[in-house]
Amino acid sequence: EAVINRIAAGEIIHRPSSALKELLENSLDAKATSIKVSVEDGGMKLLQIQDNGCGIWKADLPILAERFTTSKITSFQDLERLTTYGFRGEALASVSYVSQLSVVTKTKSDTCAWKAAYIDGKLASKDGSPTEPKACAGNDGTIITVENLFYNTPTRLSALRGSSEEYSRILDVVTKYAVHNPHVSFTCKKSGSASPDITTPSGSSVKQAIGQLYGQTIAKELLETRISSAGDGVIRVDEEEPWSAEVFFTSPNYQAKKMVFLLFITHRLVESSRIKKALETIYTGILPKGAFPFVYLSLQIDSRSVDVNVHPTKREVHFLDEEQITQKIGDAVHAILIGQNQ
Ligand code: ADP
Ligand code: MG
Repeated sequence: EAVINRIAAGEIIHRPSSALKELLENSLDAKATSIKVSVEDGGMKLLQIQDNGCGIWKADLPILAERFTTSKITSFQDLERLTTYGFRGEALASVSYVSQLSVVTKTKSDTCAWKAAYIDGKLASKDGSPTEPKACAGNDGTIITVENLFYNTPTRLSALRGSSEEYSRILDVVTKYAVHNPHVSFTCKKSGSASPDITTPSGSSVKQAIGQLYGQTIAKELLETRISSAGDGVIRVDEEEPWSAEVFFTSPNYQAKKMVFLLFITHRLVESSRIKKALETIYTGILPKGAFPFVYLSLQIDSRSVDVNVHPTKREVHFLDEEQITQKIGDAVHAILIGQNQ
């Protein structure tokens, strides 16, 4: 059974950066305003994330890493939304099947923190023997520690690149979430290093965060627009769900060798080749050959519109009204770019 779970877990957690993505989303879901990531050997030896979010109740610790444990379903209506990205409550369980997972957590109302360790979904120390949560010192919030990722799945381990390649993927994920969450302060560093590779302050704006993380050359040339289904005051009948989008995109003055595209759908970092292609095509008519833009797009759609058949970690998503929404966003961006060009 453990072997089957391990294989399933490897389908969800592909590499250190995909584990980190899940952990970051959990910290953000827990309303953290400070997130600190620490990494050793590209995340293969150690991946640690400390947040100042709501913490986890001690009573929830025994089942925390069991599959389908989620605190995010509180009503029957939420159950419908379960389909958001086709899965819920699988991330920590998956991580525990392919690593040595431990948690230190404290809620505001707890007088001390609690530490728990997991193997294969259950409370257990590294040698696999059963354990119980232990009281310890700690700040409000949660520290998740993932050690020796894929130690028990050699095929996954051998599919990884070197630690510097894995680390740069980690930095990429942290960077993108930092842009999308400018109200949260992020740091990311190699453990033991005094100077972080990423530090962002809390309370900045998306534009400031782009400037800080991707460079002022980009920030200087950023245009922005907001688009929504109700933009003209009417939700059209052919669009079944209301939606809205916020786009930051570079003017034709900025020309990169490769398109940088950040896409968040309902606050999850995802990929959509359709949207990317549509935007790329718009710029093809405007920029010289071989020049590409920077685009950040945050799309908010009702969770029920996201295709449940696509697994979340495949990242490529499809959603209801994809064609019309893509068209409208493209039209809005195009109109502004053309105006700029004159
Ligand atoms: P999901 O996020 O889909 O609920 P996960 O396996 O990612 O499932 O997490 C399981 C549960 O663990 C969450 O629902 C949440 O209650 C709790 N949890 C995980 N990480 C944190 C965190 N950093 N802070 C507070 N609670 C957390
Ligand atoms: Mg989660």
